[in-house]
Amino acid sequence: MGQLPYGLHWVDEADIEEVTSALRADWITGGPRVAGFERAICEVTRARHAVAVSSGTAALEVAVQCLDLPRGSEIITTPLTFVADANCILFNGHTPVLADIERDTRNIDPEQVRRRVTDRTRAIIYVDYAGHPCDVDALKEIAREHDLLLIEDGCHALGAEHRGRRVGSMADLSIFSFHPVKHVTTGEGGAVTTDDPTLDARLRSLRNHGMDRDAKDRAEEGADYWYDVKHLARNFRITDIQCALGMSQLRRLEQFVRRRQELARLYSELLEDIPWVEVPAARPEVRHVWHIYTVLLNPPVKRDALFRHLRSQGIGVNVHYIPVYRHSYYVRNHPFDPADFPVTEDVFSRIITLPLFPRMTDEDVARVVEAVKGHVA
Ligand SMILES: *Cc1c(COP(=O)(O)O)cnc(C)c1O
Repeated sequence: MGQLPYGLHWVDEADIEEVTSALRADWITGGPRVAGFERAICEVTRARHAVAVSSGTAALEVAVQCLDLPRGSEIITTPLTFVADANCILFNGHTPVLADIERDTRNIDPEQVRRRVTDRTRAIIYVDYAGHPCDVDALKEIAREHDLLLIEDGCHALGAEHRGRRVGSMADLSIFSFHPVKHVTTGEGGAVTTDDPTLDARLRSLRNHGMDRDAKDRAEEGADYWYDVKHLARNFRITDIQCALGMSQLRRLEQFVRRRQELARLYSELLEDIPWVEVPAARPEVRHVWHIYTVLLNPPVKRDALFRHLRSQGIGVNVHYIPVYRHSYYVRNHPFDPADFPVTEDVFSRIITLPLFPRMTDEDVARVVEAVKGHVA
C-alpha cells in the first residue's frame, strides 16, 4: 500500500456475494434485509430495538427528534467530536451546550456536565471517543438527579463495554454509523438502538417522512392505500443492498475488534520509549474497541510539524477533532469561549491520530513508529 490511510474498510468476497444476492431480490429497499440487519444490531448491542437509517448523522437527528422535547431545550454534548453531534441539536430547534472533556479518555467530563445543567437542560449526548466508553454510571446519576435523557453516540464504540454492559444497551437511545472508517460498513448508514417500544415506533416513522405505515405494510395482500403523516420528517431510509453488506460485515465484528486491539497494543509497546509521546490508555472497567489510535505530543514536538512530516512519508495521519466551537459556522452563529474548554484546547493542540484499521499489518505499525521516531523537532 502506498499512502497508508488513517482508517479503511475491509470488504471481502462473502460481503460481495451477499450484496449481489440483495440486488437480485424483490425488495431492494424497505425489505427483509433491513429487518435482518436490525436484528443483528440488536444482537451485538444487546438492545431490544434497532432502527437502521441512512447515516450516523440521520441517526442523531431522529434520536433527538423522537424525544419530542420542548423547542429551545438545552442539550449538553462534547466539543471534541464530529460536528454532527452539535448540528443535530440545532436541526431540532434546540440549544447545544458544550462541556469540557477528560484528558485521559478525551470523553465528556461528568463533573463539567453537572456544572452546565440548567432548568432548561433536557438531555445529554455523549460520545465514546475512540471506542472508550464514557463513565456511564456518573452520567446516569446526573440524568437521574435532573430528569435528563441520555443519547449515547456509539459511532466509535460498536462492541465496546462498560462494566460488562454493551454500548447500545445503556442509554435511552444509542446511535451508530456504518461509514467505511467505522468498525463495520454499509457504505453510508447508521442505526438507533433503544429498549423503549414507544421510541422505537416513533423512530420508524421519523425515518420515513413521519408516516404511520411503511411501503411493505401497504403492499400486503388486502391492505388499504391509506396512510397518515403524523410528524414533519424526512427520508432517512437505508436500502436492503446496504443492509446485506451490514449483516455480512457484522459476522466479522469480533475479528475486526480483536485485530484493532492487537494493533493498538503493538503501537503502545513500540511508542513507549519515545519521551515526547503520551500513549492512550484504557480504564480497567471498559472494553475498548479502538476506532482510532490517538497520542498526545509533548514539547519540543509540535503536532502540525509531525503531521506534515508523517504525511510526507506517505502516512495518513489525521486530527480528531477540530473542536466544534472552532468551526466558522459556530463562531458566527453560536459562539462559545474557547477559554471555557481548557482541556479540549490542550488536547486539540497536542493530539494526532495514527493509522489503525484491521487490515493493517504489524509491519505497517512498525513503519509508522519508525517514521514518528525519525521526526526531528
Ligand atoms: C462518524 C461519526 C458520526 C457521523 O456518522 P455518518 O455516518 O458519517 O453520518 C457522528 N458522530 C461520530 C462520533 C462519528 O464518528
